[in-house]
Amino acid sequence: MIAGIDLGGTQVRIAVADPDGTVRGVAKARTPDLGDPAGMVAWCLANARRLAGEHEIESIGIGVPGPCDFRTGVLVNPPNLEGWPPLLPLGPMLSEAFGSPVYLGNDADLAAVGEHRRGAGRGVDDLAYVTWSTGIGSGLILNGHLYSGSHGSAGELGHMVLDPDGPLCFCGMRGCTEAYASGHSIARDAGRPASEVFAAARGGEPAALAIVERAASKVGLALLNLVNLVDPELIVMGGGITESWGLVEARLAAPILESPFVTANRRPRLVRAELGTEVGLVGAVEWARARE
Ligand SMILES: [Zn+2]
Repeated sequence: MIAGIDLGGTQVRIAVADPDGTVRGVAKARTPDLGDPAGMVAWCLANARRLAGEHEIESIGIGVPGPCDFRTGVLVNPPNLEGWPPLLPLGPMLSEAFGSPVYLGNDADLAAVGEHRRGAGRGVDDLAYVTWSTGIGSGLILNGHLYSGSHGSAGELGHMVLDPDGPLCFCGMRGCTEAYASGHSIARDAGRPASEVFAAARGGEPAALAIVERAASKVGLALLNLVNLVDPELIVMGGGITESWGLVEARLAAPILESPFVTANRRPRLVRAELGTEVGLVGAVEWARARE
């Protein structure tokens, strides 16, 4: 069987799946409750064995938050995993514990793989999966394969500069997409948590709606840049924004539709992700399957 692990700062989940990708069982825990990386590895091993029963775990896919080297399985400065070491060889640790190959990847990249193989992007060779939640990132499928870049950090849409004189981003640059539209930036502009701003906007509150629409317009500009860079057939939007899709869809699409340069015959389709909260687990399982 295959194990897929979705590691987040708040929660870690593991699925075991048949060789064809059908998920047979899932377990989850709060990440801080597992203590250090060794505790997390032990939890994964115990739960994978319990869920797999008499079957062997033949390979493992794992999606991690933040940058990683997918060739060596090293997690680099995980921003959401407090107290974990800055360079963590999580892939080799899991591989040693399980005695099986481990395929590690960035969570946005693996979400792209999940949507490509099991979700909204089935049958599409060139697509961008864009996640917009607390952070903004993307995963690129080009010519049918995941494109991670030479250092595993391709598709950092959140730090694409939209205006060099714009607001300061935590990355040190000005005017990044995240400086306008991340959960933190929306909360800063609104003076209350981003989840409340989106809820108020869905309820029709004009001030909240204006903030959400401005943020969506900025993300739309980033999408236009993405279209000019990689010419995807499809853009799949995932993350928390899918709950407010009706509020943002038109604003996200507008810069592409209004660009005289992106002619109608080369406009990508813009759709909402299909896998919802399962995308991380499905992506991890599919990443292991794709690499076998
Ligand atoms: Zn930035």
